[in-house]
Amino acid sequence: MPGDRKMARAIIGPGGGFVFAGCLMVLALGTRASDYEAPGFATGLPVGGIAMLWLLLRGARVLSWDGALLLVVGVGANLVLGSKPELAVALAGAVLVQTVLGVLLLRLWCPDLWGCGGQRPLDRPRVLARFGVAMVVGTAAGAALATASWTLLGDGDLDLGGVLWFGRNACSAFIVVTFGLLLGQRITSRRPRPRLLSEATWAELAAAVLFTVGMYGLAFSFETLPLAFPLLAATVWIGLRFSTLLSATHSFLAGVATIFLTMTGIGPFAAVDRVEIGYLLAEFYIATLVVTGLGLSTGRDEREALAAELRRTKEEADYQGSVRQAVIGSMNEGLFVLDAAGALLLHNAAAAEIFGLAEQELTCELLAARSDRWADGTPMVDGDRPSSRALLGETVRDAEILVRNGDQPDRVVAVSAMPLPRDELRARARALVLFRDTTIEHARREELAAFAGVVAHDLRNPLAAIDGWTEMIADELDTGGLDAELAREFVSRVRSSSRRMRELIRDLLTHATSSARDLEVSCVDVGSLVAEVASGRHAEKNVTCGPVPPLLADRVLVRQVLDNLIGNALKYVAPGVEPRIAVHGCSGKLGFVTIRVIDNGIGIPEGEREQIFDEFHRAHYRDYEGSGLGLSIVRRIINRHDGTITALANPDGPGSVFELTLPAYDG
Ligand code: ADP
Repeated sequence: MPGDRKMARAIIGPGGGFVFAGCLMVLALGTRASDYEAPGFATGLPVGGIAMLWLLLRGARVLSWDGALLLVVGVGANLVLGSKPELAVALAGAVLVQTVLGVLLLRLWCPDLWGCGGQRPLDRPRVLARFGVAMVVGTAAGAALATASWTLLGDGDLDLGGVLWFGRNACSAFIVVTFGLLLGQRITSRRPRPRLLSEATWAELAAAVLFTVGMYGLAFSFETLPLAFPLLAATVWIGLRFSTLLSATHSFLAGVATIFLTMTGIGPFAAVDRVEIGYLLAEFYIATLVVTGLGLSTGRDEREALAAELRRTKEEADYQGSVRQAVIGSMNEGLFVLDAAGALLLHNAAAAEIFGLAEQELTCELLAARSDRWADGTPMVDGDRPSSRALLGETVRDAEILVRNGDQPDRVVAVSAMPLPRDELRARARALVLFRDTTIEHARREELAAFAGVVAHDLRNPLAAIDGWTEMIADELDTGGLDAELAREFVSRVRSSSRRMRELIRDLLTHATSSARDLEVSCVDVGSLVAEVASGRHAEKNVTCGPVPPLLADRVLVRQVLDNLIGNALKYVAPGVEPRIAVHGCSGKLGFVTIRVIDNGIGIPEGEREQIFDEFHRAHYRDYEGSGLGLSIVRRIINRHDGTITALANPDGPGSVFELTLPAYDG
């Protein structure tokens, strides 16, 4: 059972049908007690509306106990009002048919209306129109049946009977059903409920009520004057300023007052010569009131609902916009959206940063001017540009381009671009472009390729030597002429080649791990490290070390630095010269210690003092063995400590000076 019917049953209780039945009987008896006489149901009896509200609130089916009870009470009321038994049955049947038809049409045409299967109040003019048509069709059917009954069974003058039936039933259906359903919806709806006064105040309501009473007083006092029209002004006031429920209540009370006054012979409608014509006019007047009042207030409700929906949508859009802006702004990737006319619709700070521009300077032209080459340096044709291709519907992934960045060094940037939904309003294609700075990645890749080439080459040399010497040993063994002296010579060459390979592999590993290891800084005593290295190389008498202030550095890595420098100083000496190496240190500027490693070796050619720190660069490759990696490892380690290293000529004679700075320990 739909929720609204359950709630309605809760309001009117299990015996609700009897409440309605009793209500109809009381009204019939009341009408009987009044002086007025009319065929069938009395003109003032709002039977049509009460019967429809009854079946709607009870959720009654076509064949139901409520329907049967309605039939019985209809017969009873008609008998009370003086109809012949057969006519009483026929007229009660007409009421039942009109009620069931009206209810079915309401449930069919207004399914989301409270009382008709849904939860909504009567708050849209479209639903009000359907509601009205259902009432009119139902009561027209009832009027036709009643007319037929009178024609066949009645003995009085038919005259306006059918029209009167239609007028009072349609009018009461309008007034009672709208009021009943709006009230029921209000009572059963969950809190918080919309304001009863809508945008008005209690003071305004009081003024409107006073105005209504005043107007009615005026219209019903001067019954010879046609003063009914000012009453509409009160309805318009209430309809425009107050809730639909208050508007329906106003029409309901005004309708009841109009009928009551007319029945008691007061007012302009009672003054009409023919009583039934007076009632007919009163009923159409009430219907006009209801339609005007509800039409205005439902129209206003609909406008308010639309405005509220618009506000909600705007708030949601604002929220989504701020979230989007925050997400885009926090991205490390550059992003922009452009359209086919070259308008930059959206961008983030990272995009401006990659192109070396301020955010407000960004334009499509400037972006294009700064990125007119691919990463390999070839010029970019406009149609090949990732953004142009995306505007034509293509998706581009990670195309590497070169970004010229003002005075800064060029950057390599990976660009991805994809089409976005078209801007239908301006008939323009749109595209999203994403940038990732891959300068370091690109340099690493190139470095790795070069590194792999050199490694392959340097490992191949000693391997080829080993191959050659072992082949010669095999040949000599085949011919049987291998003497011990020759064999010793061959073996020593093989061992020397394999030692070179081992050293190269060791250097490669140190090189690869020198930047991966996390720095573990502590107080480092350089003197003890120098002594350790010298003793490890059995060169204690060749190495001296003066006082060096303590360092705040990674001990293992500093030992690696000293080992490489002292190792080179011992190696690169002229034949027959006894190596002499001195290590000095002093406090430098800005919390750094300057260390000098001075040797009496062969020195470094002047033009190569910077290049020797590059991977695989060897200044003396002819006469001395080595991998060309030692100094590049040294520079990496020093750089990781934010220090510097330079190679100089020894000012006091032959040899070199390696001057390096490392952080001082200030404890
Ligand atoms: P290698 O394995 O060749 O020693 P390094 O990177 O340690 O590689 O050194 C690079 C080059 O720098 C050496 O090949 C050598 O020519 C030069 N070099 C390094 N240290 C000294 C030094 N103390 N005296 C003269 N030349 C040196």
